Amino acid sequence: MATVQRSGSRETHQVFNQAPPLVDYNVYEADRPLVESVRREGAEWAEARIAAVGAFAGSEHAQTLGALANENPPKLKTHDRYGHRVDEASFHPAWHELLGASVEHELHSSPWKDPRPGAHVARGAAFMCMSQAEAGVGCPISMTYSVIPALRTQPELAAEWEPRFLSAEYDPRNAPAPGKSGALAGMGMTEKQGGTDVRANTTVARPVDGGGPGAEYELSGHKWFMSAPMCDAFLVLAQADGGISCFLFPRWTPDGERNRFRLQRLKDKLGNRSNASSEIEFDSASAWLVGEEGGGVRTIIEMVNHTRLDCVIGGATGMRAGVAQAIHHASHRSVFGRELSEQPLMRNVLADLSVESEAATIAAMRLARAYDEAIAGDEEAANLKRIANAVLKYWICKRAPMHAGEALECLGGNGYVEESGLPRLFRESPLNSIWEGSGNVQCLDVLRAMIKSPAALEAFFAEVQEGAVGEPRLAAYVTSLREEIPGDVETIEVRARRVVEKMALALQASLLVRYGDEAVADAFCASRLSGDWGQAFGTLSAGTDFGRIIERHSPAT
Ligand SMILES: Cc1cc2nc3c(=O)[nH]c(=O)nc-3n(C[C@H](O)[C@H](O)[C@H](O)COP(=O)(O)OP(=O)(O)OC[C@H]3O[C@@H](n4cnc5c(N)ncnc54)[C@H](O)[C@@H]3O)c2cc1C
Repeated sequence: MATVQRSGSRETHQVFNQAPPLVDYNVYEADRPLVESVRREGAEWAEARIAAVGAFAGSEHAQTLGALANENPPKLKTHDRYGHRVDEASFHPAWHELLGASVEHELHSSPWKDPRPGAHVARGAAFMCMSQAEAGVGCPISMTYSVIPALRTQPELAAEWEPRFLSAEYDPRNAPAPGKSGALAGMGMTEKQGGTDVRANTTVARPVDGGGPGAEYELSGHKWFMSAPMCDAFLVLAQADGGISCFLFPRWTPDGERNRFRLQRLKDKLGNRSNASSEIEFDSASAWLVGEEGGGVRTIIEMVNHTRLDCVIGGATGMRAGVAQAIHHASHRSVFGRELSEQPLMRNVLADLSVESEAATIAAMRLARAYDEAIAGDEEAANLKRIANAVLKYWICKRAPMHAGEALECLGGNGYVEESGLPRLFRESPLNSIWEGSGNVQCLDVLRAMIKSPAALEAFFAEVQEGAVGEPRLAAYVTSLREEIPGDVETIEVRARRVVEKMALALQASLLVRYGDEAVADAFCASRLSGDWGQAFGTLSAGTDFGRIIERHSPAT
């Protein structure tokens, strides 16, 4: 009798009709829209480097590190065992390995070290790959990448710090920067009473010896959000006599003392859990003025512009990760005797998610090229970048949570379980829309660009028009968009989301029509422009070439 019992229990533990894990594939090479974008936008020369990041990020090892870094979030350590203040966040080894790999691959520095055409595209594509292992490490990487143009406002500070920030060696020690083999940068703008409204900052800066650009000041006050507090230096905003000003605040003073700041708390966040986001207080902390007193916003916006590019890339990254997981699962799971990926309604969902993902990827890489060209002195590109960054940050980041939720559902109950990685993707998804200027702020920034830089709006329409020439649905859409700008001036602010959404769709359509897959472009125009669509994903028209779109976006190479 006992033997029969055991054999019965073995029967119940046969596992079948479950998808294998999606690991050990190259997230770059498997991503056709990304590969095509890299080649088209001028970064073909970097493909081997991007593919190396793609191989690492898709490995089982890196995927495991990403999960571990999230399951073991950083811990606050205010004091050492003897009671001395240390003000540190301590991280799991998985975080260090991922951040170290990102630094070794120069995701924080490559365009500044080797500023050739396509450098920001190459770096953006590699960043997109690495973030598919774990998005949290992208925060200090992005801030270190972005600090360089702002820091260059003050050449002597740049001369001292830039070599440290550009180093390809990851040195996680909490020690004075001159003795380290590499350094990372963060930023502190947001205070309790205002994040968007940084002019409301109350942190005070007093000159130590007369003040002026590059001179030392003492900061007293607080920051309500300061992510990656283990960084070696931060650009922070504070009120000097001349108004809101930007300062370089190092963790250690030049004489090798811990700088006078207190790490008060780490935030208990919805997602982005591998990364530390802190509340801090300055207690007459030493800092050096970057740029002029009163020019703080103008200076730090150079940094914020680049982190905003990474928000756009981050939104596209989440969508790509979701599509890859959804198609992978649906290709390995049968329901009612047929693979999910063969079920007509699931095909509609997968294709619709893919269309959204391709539109995001292609737009993010086009934007990165505008950065390359603008930095090289191309005025038209600078105008396009000025407006397109805000347009795309608004729309791509806004679409991400909805996209992640639908990708998660493609895995059914498994998608709701942590081990699948989809809950992590879902929790991360609202963040890019919030930080670096939230949704409304981006829309208002688009209005500002329209008013203050009419050339930016012209550059935007010139780019869109290139696609509209051969696509009547886009041409009609652009005509109606033009009628809304500014339209009724009295109501333009209340209509800003509607207008910016339309601008984003027009730009994405124009890029897809010219450079994307034909079936994807057709589905995008029919659904997003002509309204042959529902209100959820999976509502493309029956005539869509579902098979072609899904095949193109499948992670199976
Ligand atoms: C995980 C995380 C990490 C962060 N890390 C950092 C960091 O390292 N450094 C840093 O400085 N900050 C950081 N932030 C802060 C972040 O940049 C701010 O939270 C964000 O800019 C919004 O500011 P706020 O929270 O003060 O919200 P508010 O400014 O109060 O805005 C609240 C809402 O009002 C909207 N709004 C604002 N103005 C208008 C308007 N005129 N009209 C209509 N709507 C408006 C906004 O879009 C937003 O939705 C971080 C935030 C998070 C969540």
